[in-house]
Formats: sequence, structure tokens, C-alpha cells
Amino acid sequence: MSDLDQALISITSRPDIVFSQGKGSWLVDEEGKRYLDLVQGWAVNSLGHSPAVVAQVLANQSTQLLNPSPAFYNRPMLELAKRLVELSCFDRVFFASTGAEANEAAVKLARRWGQKERGGAYEIISFENSFHGRSLAMMSASGKPGWDRIFAPMPNGFPKARLNDLNSVERVATPETVAVMVELVQGEAGVIPADPGFVRELRALCTERQWLLIADEVQTGIGRCGRAFAYEHYGVEPDLMTLAKGIGGGIPLSALLCKERFNCFDPGDQGGTYCGNPLTAAVGLAVLNEVCDEGFLETVRHRGQYLAAGLQKISSDHGLLGERGVGLLRALALPTHRAEQVVSAARALEPVGLLLNAPRPNLLRFMPALTITENEIDEALGMLDQLFAAP
Ligand SMILES: *Cc1c(COP(=O)(O)O)cnc(C)c1O
Repeated sequence: MSDLDQALISITSRPDIVFSQGKGSWLVDEEGKRYLDLVQGWAVNSLGHSPAVVAQVLANQSTQLLNPSPAFYNRPMLELAKRLVELSCFDRVFFASTGAEANEAAVKLARRWGQKERGGAYEIISFENSFHGRSLAMMSASGKPGWDRIFAPMPNGFPKARLNDLNSVERVATPETVAVMVELVQGEAGVIPADPGFVRELRALCTERQWLLIADEVQTGIGRCGRAFAYEHYGVEPDLMTLAKGIGGGIPLSALLCKERFNCFDPGDQGGTYCGNPLTAAVGLAVLNEVCDEGFLETVRHRGQYLAAGLQKISSDHGLLGERGVGLLRALALPTHRAEQVVSAARALEPVGLLLNAPRPNLLRFMPALTITENEIDEALGMLDQLFAAP
């Protein structure tokens, strides 16, 4: 255990670094060392660290109104909902703070709809290796091996199918099936995009069987994949969608969006102390206005291609197993289980460190700020090249 860690409940092992400042793609620790950050709080800081626009909105809104209560309207909440509806195929929005909470809301809405329209159908098919959050129900919904048991008794009703295998969906379906919940690009599983054909067939199957299609866009939404929402790449419309991570640009904000016909909560079914508070809603609106601009998104797509080409070159130069991803959510496959070692070595580089993430023992994941520049990408690629060249 680190000397630093005397008072925190142990949940994970962290490196002996205390970060004190961030700006754009850069973090600085208390010793003054700089790090080029391709993790960005797990794909959270869409505009990088401490963007001026977020700082300004936080300062302004905090002097105006922090929290009148979730039982009253406030202007930022109404405006953010209206903007999300304009930008998407959805009609209604519920706000919360985290991805797990938005996904819980989606599950509750689907089950409520199942009670009202489908004779009590409640099962929600999700996928092997998927990740939907760490509440008890979301651990059950997630497809991480063992996660549906470690805190037993767990909420149940989340049978698992295999991504890109429609037969596996049909096999686990029962008369109680009410929805299918899918990440269009599985993030924690290692940046695995769903096949376009699979997604179209899944959409058709959901329509035919009266199942809701729930897209968990907590990681893929808000420009991360080069479009406002990843479902746009697939030419399908989900019935429900959840957003978190990037929508807050670093502050806790999440949302559940639905089509009008699924707007079926009874009063009191759903809510929460911080749901739709003006401080986070105002930030969300500022982030959306920056990111969901066609010029901005086009730049994200270009930067995604630029990063992909650079990673591909590193892969061929050093005998790695290639790169994959969509937009600025990418991964580099290694031939051996050394991803954690690469992450540590990258962080330890001097004079400037590089922050990477290893979602799998043989995989590096890249989720830089959507505002990363080509120069910064070059710098990161140079450091990666140096790491793989080392014996
Ligand atoms: C991160 C993530 C979540 C959980 O979000 P939290 O804000 O940590 O609760 C859910 N789904 C996906 C796809 C995620 O990447």
C-alpha cells in the first residue's frame, strides 16, 4: 500500500502520483512533471482538462442557481433536454449523474413499459463482456465474467447473448424478454465495434418481437466516435439511449433518452436529488454546443483517422496485431500480455509521461480529448514508438 493512501477505502491500486493541474491534453503532477493524457478520465473530458468554456459556465451558473430541487423546473435543465431532442432521434430526456444511474433508469423504464404493454415482460438481453456500470443491477447486466454473482443476491433478468451473433440473441430470448441493451462499440471489452449488419438485424428483430432496443452510449456518445451519437454510424434508431461520460466534459452528468411511446413512468417511479440540477445541466449544454457542431465533429473524424494511421504504422513497424476503433475511441492489439507494463513504462517516461489505459492484458486503449491536436498525436505516437523499440 502506498504512503499516500492512509485514509481511502481500498478499491484499486493507483500509481504513486498526485495530479494537481490539467489543461487540454495535459496533466501535471505535484512534482511538476507533465503527462500527455490519452485517457482523459476514461473518455470523460471531451474538451480536455479544465476547458475555459466549462470553467466559465460553472462560475456563472454557481452564482445564479445551484439546485432549486429536482421537483421544480430550471432553465438549463429544459434547454439541455430540448437540445438533446433536437440533435437526436429521441423525444424525451431524464437526467442523472452517472452512467450506471442512467442505465438503471433505462432498465426501469423498459420494465415499466413491459408491465404496461407486454404483460409483465421484464428480461433484458445484454451481451457477454459488456460493461454497463457498477450498481448491483448494472453488475448483473454487465457481461463481465462472474459479475452477476460476486455480491449475491443480485437483481436478475439479464440473460447474455454474444455481440455480432443474432442467433445467440434468439437463443436466450423468452416470452419475458422486453429489451436488448447493447454498446454499439464495446468499450471496456476492448473497443469492439458491433457489425453494421448485426445492428440492423437486431433492430429489425426488436421491432418484430416488440422488444426495446437500448443503446448504452455512455462511452460512445457525444462525439467520441466522430458523430454526435454512435447509432448514426449504423443507420438505425434505438428506442432508448443512455449518455454519461463525455456529456459532462468532466463533471457528473448523465441522461436517458427515449422515444415518445416509451415515455411511461408513473409519477414517483424515477428521480433523484441531483437529477437535472442547473449546474450540471448548464455545463452539459455548453459541452453539447461545442461538440455537436458539424465542423467540430468533422475534425474529430479526421483526428481519429490520423491517430488510426499512426497506430497502424506502429503496429507494422513493431510486429503488433493491428489497431481498431471508431473516431477517437481506438485500441492497439499486442501479441503478448504486456499492456500493463507498457502503461507503466509510458507513465514513467522522462521528462514527459504518457497516460494510456489497458482494458485487456494484450490491449491498449486510446480515448484522448476530442480537441487533441495533430502535434499532440504525433508526440504520443513518438513516445509509443520509443516504448516498443525498447528491448
Ligand atoms: C463507463 C460506462 C458506464 C458506467 O458509467 P459510470 O458513470 O461509471 O456509472 C456504463 N456504460 C458504459 C458503456 C461505460 O463505458
